[in-house]
Amino acid sequence: MTARTSISTRIAIVGGGPAGLLLSHLLRRSGIENVVLELRDREYAIQRVRAGVLENDAAQLLTDVGLGERLHREGERHDGIYLQYAGQRHHVPFRELVGRSVWLYSQQEVVKDLIEAHDEAGTPPRYGVSDIELAGLEGDGPATVRFSHEGEEFELSADFVVGADGAHGVCRPSIPESAKKTYEREYPFGWLGILAHVAPSTDELIYSLHERGFAMHSMRSHTVSRLYLQVDPHDDVANWSDERIWEELDIRLGTEGWTLHHGEIFDKSITPMRSFVSDPMRFGKLFLAGDSAHIVPPTGAKGLNLALADASYLHDVLVAWYRDGDGAGLDEYSPRSLERVWKIQHFSTWMTRMLHRFSESAETDQPGAGEFDYQVQLGQLRQLCTSDHGMAQLAEVYTGLPFLTYPSEH
Ligand SMILES: Cc1cc2nc3c(=O)[nH]c(=O)nc-3n(C[C@H](O)[C@H](O)[C@H](O)COP(=O)(O)OP(=O)(O)OC[C@H]3O[C@@H](n4cnc5c(N)ncnc54)[C@H](O)[C@@H]3O)c2cc1C
Repeated sequence: MTARTSISTRIAIVGGGPAGLLLSHLLRRSGIENVVLELRDREYAIQRVRAGVLENDAAQLLTDVGLGERLHREGERHDGIYLQYAGQRHHVPFRELVGRSVWLYSQQEVVKDLIEAHDEAGTPPRYGVSDIELAGLEGDGPATVRFSHEGEEFELSADFVVGADGAHGVCRPSIPESAKKTYEREYPFGWLGILAHVAPSTDELIYSLHERGFAMHSMRSHTVSRLYLQVDPHDDVANWSDERIWEELDIRLGTEGWTLHHGEIFDKSITPMRSFVSDPMRFGKLFLAGDSAHIVPPTGAKGLNLALADASYLHDVLVAWYRDGDGAGLDEYSPRSLERVWKIQHFSTWMTRMLHRFSESAETDQPGAGEFDYQVQLGQLRQLCTSDHGMAQLAEVYTGLPFLTYPSEH
């Protein structure tokens, strides 16, 4: 058996996605030593295409902690979205309704900024670790994280471990089944997402319910558009030629007098949609943050924002513990986070149900029920788009519920 090299830190963070990297950055600024262990390599982490919308408070937080320079230079503030149904497009003016906005700045860029900040501080994550095993999560004594890195075996001792290793990581499975409850819902559709070298055809994001299914027009920059189509979650991306994709987008996003610009598609993927929550988000010395604890369907643009919100709140409770020996925050982390998570699950489910076509067989065997539901959805959208109260409710949550802080301001 190879000897393990023993190392130690205050906080061992498993996963170098947005949640893990932001938490590490915040802890370092507060003088709390930590180590990030990441499965993949640096290039992969930077190239991974995912979310693109930052809530008001998420953008503010990144700015406050020295990560806002490129966000403000290259990102775009958006003051609303369009909701489209039955060929009509309606503007939901966030700023007029709730005085807040969102920022379009892709997750890749957020991760890039965080990695650069780590490099500058001389504390890069350990990339390419494998065989992570957690031990000592309960009882006295330090928690340990065993892992392999560049052919060597390590045992890292820490006061706390943070599971920021996403939906398929190793931390959540380390919590015994008897100590957790999981809630899950799969949707009968997925999103075919494309990136195309073409200037956006719209000034705001467009969310469109069409009788053939949902479509969305988003953007990454002045020259790159991001578009989505509701598809069968088991469909193969090979079935979707570029011509077929543009044709379908033209139909589902079309309105009179408006043209969708086409361009070279350079990224194509199908993502199934599901909602998931693991309760609690703490087990002894292990805290879960981000996708390791919860998944939302992307319709509400919340996954990345939830991950950043968890990291920010977890930072606060850990600082209170190290600075004042205050353990109340550690106890509050899971219940207060989950209260917020379920509000966001509600919003994401609401947006998803309002904007997608559910096949008749998915929810009920009753013939015609799917068509009935579609008419109800049109009624819902008509009501929403003609009511300032309805639109304000959407705007309030879309631009972001306040991030939790500790000690609580309330
Ligand atoms: C294809 C796709 C598209 C998405 N689109 C959107 C969108 O449009 N809008 C939106 O709001 N959200 C979207 N999301 C969700 C959003 O990207 C996530 O919510 C967000 O990445 C969560 O951040 P995280 O840090 O919690 O987890 P992740 O970003 O998943 O990061 C987890 C990290 O842990 C690492 N890891 C995993 N296992 C291990 C291990 N055993 N050991 C060490 N490290 C490990 C992973 O390599 C990864 O770097 C999308 C997600 C996917 C998968």
